[in-house]
Amino acid sequence: MAKTAAKKPVRSSVRPRRPEPALLFGDRWEYDPAPETADPRLQARYELFINGRFVAPRTGRYFDSLNPANERKLAEIALAGEADVDAAYAAAQRAFPAWSRLPGAERGKYLFRIARLLQDRAREFAVAETMDNGKPIRETRDFDLPMAAAHFFYHAGWADKLEHLAPGRKVAPLGVVGQVIPWNFPLLMLAWKLAPALAAGNTVVLKPAETTSITCLKLATILQDAGLPPGVVNFVTGAGETGARVVAHPAAAKVAFTGSTEVGKAILRSLAGTEKKLTLELGGKAANIILEDAPLDQAVEGIVNGIFFNQGHVCCAGSRLLVQEPVAEAVLAKLRRRIATLRVGDPMDKNTDVGAINSRAQLRRIAALVESGVREGAELYQPACALPAKGYYFRPSVFSGVTMSHRIAREEIFGPVLSVLTFRTVDEAIEKANNTAYGLSAGVWTDKGSRILRMAAELKAGVVWANTYNKFDPASPFGGYKESGFGREGGRHGLLDYVRAV
Ligand code: NDP
Repeated sequence: MAKTAAKKPVRSSVRPRRPEPALLFGDRWEYDPAPETADPRLQARYELFINGRFVAPRTGRYFDSLNPANERKLAEIALAGEADVDAAYAAAQRAFPAWSRLPGAERGKYLFRIARLLQDRAREFAVAETMDNGKPIRETRDFDLPMAAAHFFYHAGWADKLEHLAPGRKVAPLGVVGQVIPWNFPLLMLAWKLAPALAAGNTVVLKPAETTSITCLKLATILQDAGLPPGVVNFVTGAGETGARVVAHPAAAKVAFTGSTEVGKAILRSLAGTEKKLTLELGGKAANIILEDAPLDQAVEGIVNGIFFNQGHVCCAGSRLLVQEPVAEAVLAKLRRRIATLRVGDPMDKNTDVGAINSRAQLRRIAALVESGVREGAELYQPACALPAKGYYFRPSVFSGVTMSHRIAREEIFGPVLSVLTFRTVDEAIEKANNTAYGLSAGVWTDKGSRILRMAAELKAGVVWANTYNKFDPASPFGGYKESGFGREGGRHGLLDYVRAV
């Protein structure tokens, strides 16, 4: 009888792992409250900031800004109508000739002053931002405020070096720039918009998001203290209608918008055929890719940072996790254990990791998309953490068993919800990562530099992070492909979007 060759056992490239002890104490481990107590110095009412002064809106109307952590009213904000937007543009037009002719070193001094004053009042601003937005104080204190100041410092340094922006070509500012920003990083988005526009010699009319106007109007007091000439920066507050007026105003030489893809598309249509320059920073659905040779514990930290930072209200959030099959189970197990340690609740507590969702409307949108994930058959994991009775909160959520056809794999959720998909080969990972209407960011976790270089080149995303996630620097350009928009913010490229060649 012919001997059959003994079957060789199939070797997995992944060594079996010892079960890891879980350091979970459930409800038996209680933290004492650690509330931040600095005074945010809020006013009961905020007016418009036009021509260097706070002025009542000609509409005579105000709207409330709420604290999403407890639904209490924080302040009344002026509602700008057509006449107010006109007045803001008129002030910016008047200020433009002198501001644009100022030597760059002089403009730079104002930006340095703004940066330093912001640093001086950083804690006060961090508390105000946390109250208005719902994000943890840990983040406003350690990320939003230092980064906002860094943007002013960085662009202050450029103001007298504009001849090096486009070597061999002379550049000039555009004129008055109309800017509209969202609610997820209110002060930081403001800094991203203002600093390059001013460094390049433009003047500005800006509208913050309806639910987060307070730090913008507080910054107006810093602009006053810095002695910025009247009209160089004007803030008009209000809802989408006010934003549409800012964008459509005939005096705008350029429009810079950050927000949803839907509104971005409407703006693009409305500006077609005009001479206005346009940059759009829109939504995203980033793939965070974990290869089997990745350092898994670090990767899990990167995954958590990628999707739960700022409650997942991040355009470049790593909301689609792509894990290579051999390590998928191990990664999911580690991830669940890690998520169970996240502290969800009062954003003003220094121990809080995940704060409040910015508005009831956003909470509803997140809940609806999560329901769709469950309906479509994905498996939902949420830790059993207690949520505050008042305020808008959502548990950190991880969906496994997700396929590319699920809504939760295609649509931006803009909340603390992760969709986990698996892949076998690098080619499959790249194909899945690029199979989206968006193209803002991506992450790659692997031990091999050559793979990083190949994947970074093939991933259609404006930013690709390797073995890290959500790292920002004012010197580094940020922006999207496809439906994530066009134009860049930060670095030399960001400044180029605020000048014209002469
Ligand atoms: P929206 O697009 O609804 O709002 C963004 C800003 O535009 C707000 O100030 C809003 O005013 C204003 N606005 C609303 N309608 C109009 C209009 N017709 N014309 C002009 N302005 C208008 O987005 P969200 O505020 O809901 O922000 C979340 C979205 O923004 C997400 O999709 C996210 O991905 C994206 N985003 C992208 C970033 C990027 O850098 N690529 C960064 C941050 C967010 P109001 O709030 O008063 O309604």
